[in-house]
Amino acid sequence: MAILLIAEHDNSTLSDQTARALNAAGRIGGEIDILVAGKAAGSVAEAAARLHGVRRVLLVEGDALAHQLAENVSDLIVSLSANYDTIIAAATTNGKNILPRVAALLDVMQVSEIIEVVAPDTFRRPIYAGNAIQTLQALDATKVITVRTASFSPVESTNSPAPIETTAHAGTGRGLSSFIGNALSAGDRPELSSAKIIVSGGRALGSREKFEAVILPVADKLGAAVGASRAAVDAGYAPNDWQVGQTGKIVAPDLYVACGISGAIQHLAGMKDSRVIVAINKDEEAPIFQIADYGLVGDIFDVLPELERQL
Ligand code: FAD
Repeated sequence: MAILLIAEHDNSTLSDQTARALNAAGRIGGEIDILVAGKAAGSVAEAAARLHGVRRVLLVEGDALAHQLAENVSDLIVSLSANYDTIIAAATTNGKNILPRVAALLDVMQVSEIIEVVAPDTFRRPIYAGNAIQTLQALDATKVITVRTASFSPVESTNSPAPIETTAHAGTGRGLSSFIGNALSAGDRPELSSAKIIVSGGRALGSREKFEAVILPVADKLGAAVGASRAAVDAGYAPNDWQVGQTGKIVAPDLYVACGISGAIQHLAGMKDSRVIVAINKDEEAPIFQIADYGLVGDIFDVLPELERQL
């Protein structure tokens, strides 16, 4: 039994999401190879080779793979798939872009966003925005799986790296898609998906100016990433990529501070696995208090500036 794990990277850095997905792969059992598909991604392959429990790293580089377009990467994965029973990736933007295409090309179902491995063919995954947990058995010869990485801790690195097999990718891709550009938000704050602390703001903030004046100073004092509810994002108080929840990012930091967020199930679906949840809300009946470890009933416009001063 062999598993192919697709590395999550930007050609220079291996994301911590890969080490978490590797933990899930290890629970399935069998030899694990990591595929690094990209361009000039040698440092990524070296980092992947140092992860504990990896048999070998396949580094495939070429122009067509430089931006990890789903069409090109999925063709590569399918060409390797005969050697593997399981193809697995973190349920990141890339993983969710590439793996459904792999599943379709292999004519198998995809098992999406697993949170637990029960047996090599049996998995648990949240459904209905996390309100129910489904246990499913996958009978396909090749299993295509994405992993909700918040549920798995990253595996450790080792001092004896696995071998790296480098292959040049000569293909030019099918030409079904082309890379236009990356619109990345620049900033010194930690990335939301891997942050240890997140301070999130909701509709209560009332405007972008107030969001920035009240949430950001506290986040910066804590060295935290900034999150937002969908209501705050839809109202333009916070950018899209800060959204936490069912249709945003799934996070599980050590500390999640929800400020002026009611606690709708779609928001909880994205943050309820956080280790410690702090809620600040002026309505003591707000549902967020039902899952909060610490709740403070108060006005965020009083509490947060005071909290910042105390910090
Ligand atoms: P509200 O529900 O309006 O809550 C605002 C809270 O602020 C209230 O509890 C209020 O008491 C409190 N408040 C007001 N003023 C103050 C003050 N001065 N001080 C302290 N507290 C104050 N939502 C997400 O967040 N993420 C998602 O990914 C997501 N996906 C969705 C997908 C679908 C298909 C659907 C239907 C909905 C989705 N939603 C999502 C929306 C979700 O249902 C809620 O509408 C949203 O989360 C509400 O955001 P909120 O808590 O900021 O706003």
